[in-house]
Amino acid sequence: MKSKVKCILSLFLVIGFLGINLEAVAKKHKSSKNAKGNGIIDYSKYGRKGAKARKAWLKYPEKKYDPNTKVYCDALFMRVHEENCPMLILKDRKKTMTLEQADKEGWRIGESGQSGRGRCCFKGYRRKYPEKEITDDMVGVVQPMKNGRYKWHVPGCHRFVMKPEHKVMTLGEARKLPGFYICPHCVERGPGAAIVDVEALRKRPTPPKFTPPAGWVPKPFSPDQLPPKKEIEILIQETLSTNYGILETPFKNPVASLEQFMMMRFFFPVGQWLTYYQAYRATGDKRLLEALRVSARHYHKLCVEYPDAAQLKARDPEGLAFMYSMAVSARITLQLARKYPDQVSKEEVAEAESFLKAIVATLKRTCEGNDNLDPEMGIPKPLADDFRTRAFNRASNGIATIAMASAALADLQKLKNTTEYQATIDRYRKCVQEWYKNWKKIGCLYTEADGKTYFYYPYSPREKLKVTKEGFKIGGADDIGHYSIAMQGIVLVHDATPELGADDKFLTAVANAVYYAAGTKYGSIQCPSADRVKPLNRHPRNSKPKTQFYMFEAFREGVIDAWCQKYSKTQKNELLSSHTARLKTLYAQYLKALRKDRSLIHLGETW
Ligand SMILES: [Zn+2]
Ligand SMILES: [Zn+2]
Repeated sequence: MKSKVKCILSLFLVIGFLGINLEAVAKKHKSSKNAKGNGIIDYSKYGRKGAKARKAWLKYPEKKYDPNTKVYCDALFMRVHEENCPMLILKDRKKTMTLEQADKEGWRIGESGQSGRGRCCFKGYRRKYPEKEITDDMVGVVQPMKNGRYKWHVPGCHRFVMKPEHKVMTLGEARKLPGFYICPHCVERGPGAAIVDVEALRKRPTPPKFTPPAGWVPKPFSPDQLPPKKEIEILIQETLSTNYGILETPFKNPVASLEQFMMMRFFFPVGQWLTYYQAYRATGDKRLLEALRVSARHYHKLCVEYPDAAQLKARDPEGLAFMYSMAVSARITLQLARKYPDQVSKEEVAEAESFLKAIVATLKRTCEGNDNLDPEMGIPKPLADDFRTRAFNRASNGIATIAMASAALADLQKLKNTTEYQATIDRYRKCVQEWYKNWKKIGCLYTEADGKTYFYYPYSPREKLKVTKEGFKIGGADDIGHYSIAMQGIVLVHDATPELGADDKFLTAVANAVYYAAGTKYGSIQCPSADRVKPLNRHPRNSKPKTQFYMFEAFREGVIDAWCQKYSKTQKNELLSSHTARLKTLYAQYLKALRKDRSLIHLGETW
């Protein structure tokens, strides 16, 4: 009986309690609905990641803004920014309006980044009116896809590089194309505001077309013996026909192109520039050096005409890689000028010097100065902090750009018999050295019982690997894809400044790890002992061929064969016959020769 009363009593208590709670929940729900702007925006239409990023903005406490606050309108996408927004460039060339008007017209407020997932300003502002959506009368670009379908983009979308053959048309017109669809990133980012300058696009230098010689059948190259001269010429022509690696679309309003430049990541151009670079080192053909100069001239012009934008882009190692082809082409030119003065003209030297001067000016704020040095690294604090946080694969090619620039500046000093750039060179060298030191500290260099050393590391410097009692580290070894991107940068540092952290010994440790991972189940790149404890770390291997690793054949014999072991004989033959595989195999021959003679500029010198 007593227990029954107790039971009823507690039931009342629970109901009472729930009642209050439900009310609180309802209140909370209402307020969060208000926070979303009275349910004005349905974020779920922006996909999982897009919705997640936007919902996170609601965590900024609501802040009242004067409706008459002045906003600056982007030229590329319908976005507006606050006066003091860190992402705002070329302020004096932008249209302005009031916050109220921008909201009414549906402009995205305080959004930045490739898909608009970044919140740069107006944090805590809650929209009053809906965002403007893409409509059928809007003009965009159609990308023909490999599967035969057509994808419509807002001009300036980061998901594709616009070429003269791409058609400009309205969304309504595009709907009539077979298999038509809209790019989901464009839906998320919203309408554009820029007009493509088709004329300027057509005027851009275009790579020569490659026509395979009649009856030619590509065959694999050997990692030890030179292919016939005829085959090398074909390889050069194939390489020249790829693309120059210029990312931005020309728009009628140049501010729009600059905004696109600020937003884009340079992964694709860097891969393309590496292709030219490796082909040059493997052959010594000056047409390849000239191909590198096409993008170098483009980005040099940008640095000179818009120094503020260039400096903002170059504020971290990932962004500064846009100057990669400037550094690399200057380095090759000046190396040639010192070793073979009659092979290089005065104009070529002057151009290389102008590229380097632009790099020095652009990197001044990022790398130089003594006002705010990191006590541990002895380089500017923001850069040191970046070294401690940015994923290694994202930083590696920028570090390579700094290393290349420092070596090229040293060449320039010797040519001109001055010490004008010494302080800059010293600081660049310090930056490269500190990045490598940190990479090795977070990662692991472990020598196994057989005397071979292996190098591996986690994706991000923020990850902490566990140290075993044997002394090797486990957990979080990087996956094949990201490891290979990080290693693209390493060969440039090995060429330019091996003494700063990428010497033969270190590259041998990389080659050992790469060789071993080729045969493991998941392909996590680490030492054999770590693989026995934790074979799968980040992403498991996929079926894509890994030609990026072939160059390490120069440091560990059998790397190429090892990365073909999962293919049949026919598949292997086909794979090794591809343009990339032939190129990377020949480049491995250059690296082998470079190990014997550090003064070697290209493999052609040995023929
Ligand atoms: Zn902003
Ligand atoms: Zn798109």
